Amino acid sequence: MTTDLSKRVPAVVLRMILSGIEEVTGSQYARVLSQAGLMRYADEPPPEDQSPTITEPELSALYGATYDVIGESLTRLFLTRYGQKLPEAMLAGPAGQEMLARMAGVPEAERLGTAIRLIAETGTKLWTPMRATEDDQAYYLEIENCAICARIHNARSPICANSEFFYGALARALTGFRLTALEIECAAVGAPKCKYRIRK
Ligand SMILES: [Zn+2]
Repeated sequence: MTTDLSKRVPAVVLRMILSGIEEVTGSQYARVLSQAGLMRYADEPPPEDQSPTITEPELSALYGATYDVIGESLTRLFLTRYGQKLPEAMLAGPAGQEMLARMAGVPEAERLGTAIRLIAETGTKLWTPMRATEDDQAYYLEIENCAICARIHNARSPICANSEFFYGALARALTGFRLTALEIECAAVGAPKCKYRIRK
């Protein structure tokens, strides 16, 4: 599987990511930008619009630089905060509304499975190829080329906290159930893919 090089991060999203990184890195922010090759944003953040900015590999380099400069805990803190801002906007937008509409009338016993498959389908279309799997205990979302941790290595525990929060929030909104997603395998820890578990 190859990364889609034509995919670019919308300006408004990059703006949110950079302000989150600035918040946790403080005086080291310029060092992160410099290491990521993004000094052009030091004085002027991206505009609040949908214009295309950096590529996915550049985004991975930005997360990698953040990790190298401030370490695992603060990077996870940034990703957690960032992830909390995403679900509401996503659910209010056209893709989120379509997902909610497709959940209408799905019987209770099928809601979780349907929601997880819908997340995988929508995610593959919008963000990155992902797969829904299941066993007796849980459903799983599996991502082979995670842009968040592509340039992060040797983490002690899974680091894609934003995705963890994001998928959990989507699954809660789609099913109406109280549940969470937990990242049980992560490429940043050396696993072949990032894998999120949603218990049945
Ligand atoms: Zn991960």
